Amino acid sequence: MSRVAISKLVSPVDESKIFDAVKSVLDKLGGIEKFVSPGEMVLIKPNFVSPRPPPVTTDIRVIKALALQIKETGAKPIIGEGSSAMTHWWREGMTTEDVMDLLGVSDMAKEIGVELIPFDRKGVFKSRMTLIPDAVLMKKAEIAELALEADKIIPLPVLKTSMEGGGITCCIKVLHALTNAQSDRLRWHRSDLWQKLIDLFRLVKPKIPFCLVDGLVGMEGDGPIHGTPVNMNLILAGDDPVSTDAIAAKIIGFEYPHREIGPIALAHSQGLGMGDPSQIEVMGEKVDEVKKRFLMASCEIITPPFENVLVYEGATCRGCKAWIKFLLYMLRDTGIFEDLKRLDKKLFFFTGLEPPFPTDLEELRELSKKGVILVYGDCSTNTTKHSYWVLKQGELKGKIILIPGCPPFDSAQQATQIRDALGLETTEKEEEAFKYVPT
Ligand code: SF4
Repeated sequence: MSRVAISKLVSPVDESKIFDAVKSVLDKLGGIEKFVSPGEMVLIKPNFVSPRPPPVTTDIRVIKALALQIKETGAKPIIGEGSSAMTHWWREGMTTEDVMDLLGVSDMAKEIGVELIPFDRKGVFKSRMTLIPDAVLMKKAEIAELALEADKIIPLPVLKTSMEGGGITCCIKVLHALTNAQSDRLRWHRSDLWQKLIDLFRLVKPKIPFCLVDGLVGMEGDGPIHGTPVNMNLILAGDDPVSTDAIAAKIIGFEYPHREIGPIALAHSQGLGMGDPSQIEVMGEKVDEVKKRFLMASCEIITPPFENVLVYEGATCRGCKAWIKFLLYMLRDTGIFEDLKRLDKKLFFFTGLEPPFPTDLEELRELSKKGVILVYGDCSTNTTKHSYWVLKQGELKGKIILIPGCPPFDSAQQATQIRDALGLETTEKEEEAFKYVPT
């Protein structure tokens, strides 16, 4: 039976209590010596998606506690990560190394004498094409060299909700960064993201002896970036990443994670771990005593805060819906919703296969007077061809923004296009803000 241990810290939380909590959960699983051996290279894989403090990223005090305990066994801990490709593109070439510096990880690693290895250096992600036996979807992928060379890999995510992750981003999702940020991380970033994560998990699972979860401050709402912090004071460890994710999900309010959360359900049903909480042994704190119902993430465009936005869907997947929402968060942070109200304009998104795009010129003309029309994503741009003459040649040319991509990742450019269409200047202030959202 797979096992998950939970420890709840008493406030105020400090480094010494965190160290003890990490030791306590690992001891409940049999002690760290059971999982790592002297001389082994142990890759600690935290979440440093962007240079934002916890709970967007893993608390470095938890990483420090784990690294020190691995070191005590005689094994060699290495902290490795590859931040989001968006971080590199939108932040003037910011690398994972820069993110680690900004988060204070580099100083911490130096202090305790632990090596820090970013998967990418100077924008080049060091990876090797690797076959994934028995994969359902992603039969080969460019995998970080460090992950291939490490003897053990320890996922160390934050307890967060996720718009794209099927409800929660935890031990399985944090492995996503083992794929090359500029190629395989971006491919299959639609509804197929979940199976892709499971195929990646299938490849590295034999190297994962246990995983640890930073649940000191969780995130509810539109995680993994735009949610709200929730104080939890928890540390979790489990000897099965699927079970650890399932118990983490149960703590934040999912009753049946092996049915409710895509990646957990797929891993569970494909025999890669136990996702049914009734079949998992929980040690330490009881789930019922530490659980707190989080506000869940949603890909829907909800008012408030997204006033004056209408999304017309065809056959859409989560990819475009999540990225429309990332774009709207970016625009919100530059005050666009106040501008839309003042100008009495709306944003009309058409997305997915065959969205209900007006074919009547008069109707389209009227809509364009009311705001900005966006045809969002490859599905949509490829299936509004019946309106091609309007979009490309007619009097509305230039008034309708076509945004290709699957999903369209370049939110900064899209935000600038929308501001231009509304007659709003994009000054250095907005450009600076665009670098830091949505990731
Ligand atoms: S274009 Fe958008 S809706 Fe279509 S498959 Fe890609 S992400 Fe999904």
